[in-house]
Amino acid sequence: QGTLYVVPTPIGNLADMVPRAIQTLQSVSLIACEDTRHSSRLLDHFNIQTRTTAYHDHSDDRKTASLLAMLEQGEDLALISDAGTPLISDPGYRLIREARAQGVRVVPIPGACAVIAALSAAGLPSDRFIFEGFLPAKAQARRQRLERLTTEPRTIIFYEAPHRVLESVTAMRDVFGAEREVVLAREISKAFETIAGMSLEKMCDWIAGDSNQQRGEIVVLVRGAPEREAVIDEGVAHTMRVLLEELP
Ligand code: SAM
Repeated sequence: QGTLYVVPTPIGNLADMVPRAIQTLQSVSLIACEDTRHSSRLLDHFNIQTRTTAYHDHSDDRKTASLLAMLEQGEDLALISDAGTPLISDPGYRLIREARAQGVRVVPIPGACAVIAALSAAGLPSDRFIFEGFLPAKAQARRQRLERLTTEPRTIIFYEAPHRVLESVTAMRDVFGAEREVVLAREISKAFETIAGMSLEKMCDWIAGDSNQQRGEIVVLVRGAPEREAVIDEGVAHTMRVLLEELP
């Protein structure tokens, strides 16, 4: 049986392509790409001549089945997306799920991933965090999603499209409060890389007043809510006092 490699590609700077990713892509029989035309530039750059095929989560069952059949026959395959790590707000879940279900060995190659790069430099608590991917595009659904996160104590990380960043950060200010700290990580590993932290109130003003902040690729990181001390209601406190009196 073949091995399925999950291979990251750069999120901006071509030099962020890890050597093991290049070696793997050169050695497999076939590369399943989110978009073969998009990836051809990267593959050409690294002189990778392996055959490619399109694969995304809307690919039909026959496509998944044909990739699984190749693995069954002992061919090694690689999965890549347009940028960064496959499956992280990118296609691949179905293929990996089904490959594992059939007992195929799935090997991840560590490498570029915008959420991890942003968190590593944001200066927000990084011991515990949650990744929310993209918020819904419609205002009401977005607000509802944010409202479910108001008491979340861990650092909360979102991917955001440049034309929606102002609307989203404004909604975050309205839901999480003006003083909550936010970090905008934009164009990581590219020429205009910007990583800036401030209150949500100041962030709204900054983005509104500087259209450059509404360009390129963006990760938004929000400090979690302060952990509240557990509040014990009076009924529970009374029961505990009674029980304590019973103790020898
Ligand atoms: N699979 C990718 C990864 O591992 O990060 C993410 C793919 S997702 C379709 C694209 C989103 O990732 C962008 O809209 C942006 O939110 C974020 N992103 C990708 N590259 C980035 C970069 N260089 N700087 C900041 N954010 C980036």
